[in-house]
Amino acid sequence: MTTLIVDDDPFVIKLLTRQLTSLGVTGIDGQTDSSAALTAIADHLSAITLLFCDLQMPGVDGIEIVRHLATLGYRGGLVLISGEDARILNSASELARVLKLNVLTALQKPITVAHLADVLTRLAAMPTGTPPAPRAPRRSYQGDDIAQALTRGDIIVHAQPQVSFADRHLVGVEMLARWLHPQDGLVFPDQFIAEAEAAGLMDGFTQSVLQASLRAAAGWAALGLHPQISVNISMDNLISIGLVAMVETELNRVGVPASQLTLEVTESRVMQNEAAALDVLLRLRLKRIGLSIDDFGTGHSSLAQLRDLPFSELKIDRGFVHGASHDPARGALCSASMRMARELGLSVVAEGVEDQNDWDYARLVGCDIAQGYFVARPMPPEKLPAWLTDWNAQR
Ligand code: C2E
Ligand code: CA
Ligand code: CA
Repeated sequence: MTTLIVDDDPFVIKLLTRQLTSLGVTGIDGQTDSSAALTAIADHLSAITLLFCDLQMPGVDGIEIVRHLATLGYRGGLVLISGEDARILNSASELARVLKLNVLTALQKPITVAHLADVLTRLAAMPTGTPPAPRAPRRSYQGDDIAQALTRGDIIVHAQPQVSFADRHLVGVEMLARWLHPQDGLVFPDQFIAEAEAAGLMDGFTQSVLQASLRAAAGWAALGLHPQISVNISMDNLISIGLVAMVETELNRVGVPASQLTLEVTESRVMQNEAAALDVLLRLRLKRIGLSIDDFGTGHSSLAQLRDLPFSELKIDRGFVHGASHDPARGALCSASMRMARELGLSVVAEGVEDQNDWDYARLVGCDIAQGYFVARPMPPEKLPAWLTDWNAQR
């Protein structure tokens, strides 16, 4: 068991070491150089159980360190410390929590022995073992139920508008799966997607969602509306051989051009299976189907990985958009994602635009397209034309 203290002030390291020792902690190391510290952490990842990290250091800043720790998959306890700004401290811990790090607490200097005793109590109470899967769903439905829903046609789609920041015109719609359950009413995807994946049902599921989405697109086209249609696909789809042919067949069936379709894949999942996915992604892209990297910011992709994959769009996760204007950590992630996207020539969608502040901020950092409750909630496809009339009347 090792405790590591990272602070550019050697006096703080000395003091903390003395205080922790007085509480019975052994095996304490200190680092004054943040880049050297990152190397040390990478080298001794599983040995470090407790990490104290100062946020204001020359060179690597606190946000960067938090991102690095998440990328490395650091599973020990984390204590963020700061000499000055309580706001930065709060935002950094919030960011760290979003990135699934075990933040024990955030401390403002000067740090007392009582603070440290509290840290040790929290460390002891920290759950051990493997971290929970991100966004673990409630497993309330069985694979069999979902299979039956697919056969009965109970899986439907709702459409959520995406509008341009520049002039507010409708650019696209994301099609979101809903289960019209005979007893339970409208069931949301977090209650059945993971189960459908586990039951190996995603090929049929995605085909149903795509069919429903393209039917909606054909209906809108008849009214002169041609929004970009975004459909979520799972990693299972990308590594199954039939995907490209299935998508082409469905497009041809309704006569919707391939370039009007965008497929969204979650960042974390695609990066874990980069090699397997690349071939299919390239083939889809060659057919002019749009490819969007979803929930960006939660998957720690490197610029190099992103450059290698043929994406056309990036969606900044709603966890980093909503509240970004008054939260430096979220704001930093938002604008860093923007810079990255610009460098790669990707168009950027801000998800989770819930209020005027979110809208103003995402627009200011340069996002192209807004999606979120501030624009509209997901709605049945037949409601879209009336919504659009209202929306256009107000813009
Ligand atoms: P997602 O792809 O990130 O979809 C956006 C989710 O954010 C939707 O939740 C949407 O209703 C919600 N949302 C939209 N605007 C706001 C906002 O302003 N604030 C907040 N807090 N939330 C907002 P939904 O429909 O419950 O979908 C959840 C997830 O389920 C989706 O996340 C997507 O990962 C997955 N999913 C949905 N439909 C499908 C599908 O057909 N296939 C697959 N594979 N996954 C799907
Ligand atoms: Ca999505
Ligand atoms: Ca998303």
